[in-house]
Amino acid sequence: MIQENLAEVNRRIAAACQRSGRPTGDVTLIAVSKTKPVDMIQAAYDAGARDFGENKAQELAEKYEQLPKDIRWHMIGHLQTNKVKYIVDKVCLIHSVDSLRLAKEISTQAEKKSVDRVDILIEVNIAGEDTKYGVTPEEAPDLAAEIAALPRISIRGLMAIAPYVEDGEENREHFQKLKKLAVDILDKKIDNINMEIFSMGMTGDYETAVEEGATMVRVGTGIFGERNYNKE
Ligand SMILES: *Cc1c(COP(=O)(O)O)cnc(C)c1O
Repeated sequence: MIQENLAEVNRRIAAACQRSGRPTGDVTLIAVSKTKPVDMIQAAYDAGARDFGENKAQELAEKYEQLPKDIRWHMIGHLQTNKVKYIVDKVCLIHSVDSLRLAKEISTQAEKKSVDRVDILIEVNIAGEDTKYGVTPEEAPDLAAEIAALPRISIRGLMAIAPYVEDGEENREHFQKLKKLAVDILDKKIDNINMEIFSMGMTGDYETAVEEGATMVRVGTGIFGERNYNKE
């Protein structure tokens, strides 16, 4: 089941790449395994998946201990400053940085744990939803400039969570907006800022996101099935 789902998602990503004239290798599929047990993650691993996304620091740290060490773990959920220490030496990318305070703590913990460089994305609340974390598009350039000055932290791009929609097409404008924002940030010519990663698109809209330039898509339900938050 997981193997078939993974193949189907990869097939759709390849098709979306082809439609938009991009090489398939441009897009990394992150299998979002939050709330899912280790045996399901292992099944996805056995089917070839190496990038996994979690939204809770302790859950990520526990799974890290139990699963193969060549997995690339992505922190995609809201991260409290007091939890940074659990994951800073375990993740390949933190997608959800939305404050200077958090970035400073990542920098401090990287120093403490002798991690040379922590790659991060700035999370942008692209549709201005009250319920979402992330900075406003207007705040993003200044925050990027402040973070870029910190040691041991490297800004690699932007992340957005688009609204939940029935038809992914409805989010196309938001994905376009995120890409434009990256151009605005690059125009400021700040050292130590790259804008090569666009983490956008989930189960309901990842094909549209790929068409609009996503380089990472985060797919949970489409691979592992529905999440049940009551019986974890
Ligand atoms: C849960 C989650 C996803 C995956 O959502 P699905 O709709 O199950 O694909 C992607 N990104 C973030 C930040 C999430 O928290």
